[in-house]
Amino acid sequence: MNDTSIALRVPAPRVAQQPAAAYLRHGQTPFFRLPMANFERPGSAPYVGADAVLLGVPYDGGVTYQPGARLAPYHVRRVSALVQTFHAFHEIDVFGTLAALDGGNVAFPPFDSRLVRDLVQTEVARILAAGAVPFLLGGDHSIVLPALRAIASRHGPVAVVHVDAHLDTSDGEVWGEDFHHGTPLRHALAEGLIERGQLHQIGIRASMGSADDARFGLEHGAHVYPMDEVASQSVDWVAAEVRRAVGLRNVYLTFDVDAIDPAFAPGTGTPVPGGLTSREAIALLRGLAGINLVGMDLVEVAPSLDHADLTSHLAAHLLYEGLALAALRMA
Ligand code: MN
Ligand code: MN
Repeated sequence: MNDTSIALRVPAPRVAQQPAAAYLRHGQTPFFRLPMANFERPGSAPYVGADAVLLGVPYDGGVTYQPGARLAPYHVRRVSALVQTFHAFHEIDVFGTLAALDGGNVAFPPFDSRLVRDLVQTEVARILAAGAVPFLLGGDHSIVLPALRAIASRHGPVAVVHVDAHLDTSDGEVWGEDFHHGTPLRHALAEGLIERGQLHQIGIRASMGSADDARFGLEHGAHVYPMDEVASQSVDWVAAEVRRAVGLRNVYLTFDVDAIDPAFAPGTGTPVPGGLTSREAIALLRGLAGINLVGMDLVEVAPSLDHADLTSHLAAHLLYEGLALAALRMA
């Protein structure tokens, strides 16, 4: 045969991460060049056999300022093709250890926030029922509530590590709407989805409506690591504190990209100056090695506000750090 198009070797299927040559040939861009789940199978069947499933949630109907996060799953998929399997810091073959799939996106009409919550919860529950760890790529931060509802109905109340510039424990008073990206952790605490004393909030620094803003979380036993404390103590110290506090508990990690300084992550809807550097954010997640991660989301990436895909690249790498934490538990 005179097939001159490809001199590249395309290895057999059943590799965990497709080689760059395969991705180059077929032109599709699943998360991290992973296999796609087979959506023709019902219920949890598409995810059976997977250890981890990446799920896009292209919803930004919960933002209070600039929209755009609904497009993040497409952009982060595209740039995640550059991330390779071997994690040099942890010395682990992430996708060789952890059978991971791209679970596609949750599909919904973006006009009905209650329906979106229900559909996200259903899909996360399906991933959990298959025995896999869900990794959500939002979307705005409102999607953490249905994710935690599914997580808690499977595992009971969990520990939550929340990295963010904002507390996300507001109520409906400001907007007359109780479900948006500033309120999910209030609901999660009120609904008992988080074990008392096991909400760990890192990087908090946004201005507040009043001195009372932190009270709800503190009354529910939240531990707040303001950005000033993170800066003075170091992310390694914070990671060690959190690791010690969560112990052997099930941990859900919810990472709002606006925790990172807008100089490093400009593509987000509610930027707050003075945040983590990219390197600190990566070091923070590496410092959590050993925790029992039962789910993660990465939210608030708004590609239309980004420059040179900086924020999308960072988001892909932070997801990879989370996947590495899950892989370390299996090694
Ligand atoms: Mn935020
Ligand atoms: Mn948030």
